[in-house]
Amino acid sequence: MKICLCGCAPRMGRRSLIAGALAATAVPAVAAVPADPRLIDDLVVANRILYDQGVVDGFGHISARHDKDPNRYLLSRSMAPALVTADDIMEFDLDSNPTDSSGRTPYLERFIHGEIYKVRPDVMAIVHSHSPAVLPFADTHTPLKPMNHIAGFLGSGPPVFDIRSTAGDASDMLIRSKDLGRALAKSMGQSQILLMRGHGSVAAAQSVRHVVFRAIYTEVNARTELQAMALGKPVFLNEKEAAAAMKTNDGLVERPWALWKQRVATK
Ligand code: MN
Repeated sequence: MKICLCGCAPRMGRRSLIAGALAATAVPAVAAVPADPRLIDDLVVANRILYDQGVVDGFGHISARHDKDPNRYLLSRSMAPALVTADDIMEFDLDSNPTDSSGRTPYLERFIHGEIYKVRPDVMAIVHSHSPAVLPFADTHTPLKPMNHIAGFLGSGPPVFDIRSTAGDASDMLIRSKDLGRALAKSMGQSQILLMRGHGSVAAAQSVRHVVFRAIYTEVNARTELQAMALGKPVFLNEKEAAAAMKTNDGLVERPWALWKQRVATK
């Protein structure tokens, strides 16, 4: 029941007041404090950037852990990422139940987000996409490895999740349940990136801006690696170089973010 300042509440009968109070207690605990509007704004901008940079198309999504409640996360309702506005952002608990759906339909694959947030307290934002250059690496046994310092977050190469190991050989490939999300999160381990056989990939990071950086440069690195393989056998960054480069780049994400943000602001 909404509290109205126009004076209509006193005209409500006792019965409807009690019913309203009962309904209010039956609603799952909604976060007492709303998320920081700057976080919502970053999430909306990130949706547009990921489309502009060719990471998502009509499909794919990005979430952020709630800044005031680590047991909640924020994710758009089911829609094309480039069209997302602040009003489309929904809030979920870590079992991926919406806390206030208001008739909005959630993404089928939201369990990717909830189950990773459960087991990775370091992760504050997640991108799931089907970005095209990454798929050859998800579908073959060719490892995706860092071609240059910008992609140091790839480390020694992301693991690959094969849904057949959990869902058998006749699934629709979607992470449409908590069980599948849990298996995927386990397969990701402590990695920043996870490839999904026959599907796409997941990026995780300590902020929305960092995860956008990782999702974009995973796609760029995949293109570069495919080009290098046409010429010969690539020499990748080793694990120490990759870790050192990732540490440096984590302090530099604001620079490309400003550029990517300006591009979508003028469209
Ligand atoms: Mn998907």
